[in-house]
Amino acid sequence: MKAKTAKGPKLEYPFSAPKPGALQRVADGVHWLRMPLPMALDHINLYLLEDGDGWTIVDTGLGDSTTEGLWDDVIEKHLGGRPITRVLCTHMHPDHTGMAGWLCRRSGAPLWMSRLEYTTARMLVADVAPAPDDAIEFYRAAGWDEDQLERYKQRFGLFGKAVRRLPDSFRRIEDRDDIVIGGRTWRVIVGSGHSPEHVCLWQPELKLFISGDQVLPRISSIVAVWPTEPAADPLNDWLSSCWRLMAAIPDDVFVLPSHNEPFRGLHARLEHLIDGHAKKLERLERAIAKPTRVVDMFSAMFAREIGAGDLSMATGETLAHLNYLVRRGRASYAVDSTGVARFTRESAAADPGEILEM
Ligand SMILES: [Zn+2]
Repeated sequence: MKAKTAKGPKLEYPFSAPKPGALQRVADGVHWLRMPLPMALDHINLYLLEDGDGWTIVDTGLGDSTTEGLWDDVIEKHLGGRPITRVLCTHMHPDHTGMAGWLCRRSGAPLWMSRLEYTTARMLVADVAPAPDDAIEFYRAAGWDEDQLERYKQRFGLFGKAVRRLPDSFRRIEDRDDIVIGGRTWRVIVGSGHSPEHVCLWQPELKLFISGDQVLPRISSIVAVWPTEPAADPLNDWLSSCWRLMAAIPDDVFVLPSHNEPFRGLHARLEHLIDGHAKKLERLERAIAKPTRVVDMFSAMFAREIGAGDLSMATGETLAHLNYLVRRGRASYAVDSTGVARFTRESAAADPGEILEM
């Protein structure tokens, strides 16, 4: 669940990717495992941490038969007969939690997650058709036509189809927790904006940072508004998290992300991500000189054409930037008699540079 390639600063990538289902050692006791995804972003990185007599698994892959087959292989051939003793998910998206229930049931290991990620995942797997009226109203307000709304209705409930039944209970992880894995202490750093309470893990002696989707090197994570909370301001959460990570985590860590390849250059990457959003806000403010529908702003937001499959992501991301502007008095909107919203910039808008001073 990510978007867009972004040109960025020069980052260092010391390892090339292992084949799906193969392990690549990236540090003492830390192994990189790739699983395939059946979409444009065609993989997710999982990390397997040697943990005394067992293994801690960080993220699990999509809940489908391909991933299940690869996990069968990994468990049989690559874990040295040692059991999985803990399954930890950085956040709730299906490529991260899809196989968590399957792995926990098979191994007897507990699921470790933050509370908001676990409860949100449980909420989303319970979403089954028909699509709720609030969601239809939300996308109609953005300017979707009847065909687009119909497609949404027909596809509603996909989240649950990509996630194997989650464990009925979990072990809660909180920001600043210390988790001992393989005799080393990993500090939990929580971020937000891409998902509600995303867990990152920092190991200072090994200088490792498991970033999940909170920091990716070559693509930018989706920061979007969804129909359950139309007035949400996830971009503010996201930018605050970027600043917070920059303050909390040293620049010399080796970053283990959930997509692309492990890299060095954390702070430069975070600065580039922050800057990218500032530029989008500026472009959006220019695009809404006159009242404009969300669907008519995509060319200001994205470098590529938005197809049917990208529509909810593009709408959500555009709204994340618009809500950020509205909350700061830099834009406003009005809804017409057909339920469609049009956004307009406020002429006395603050300098777009304010974002850099948060
Ligand atoms: Zn994600």
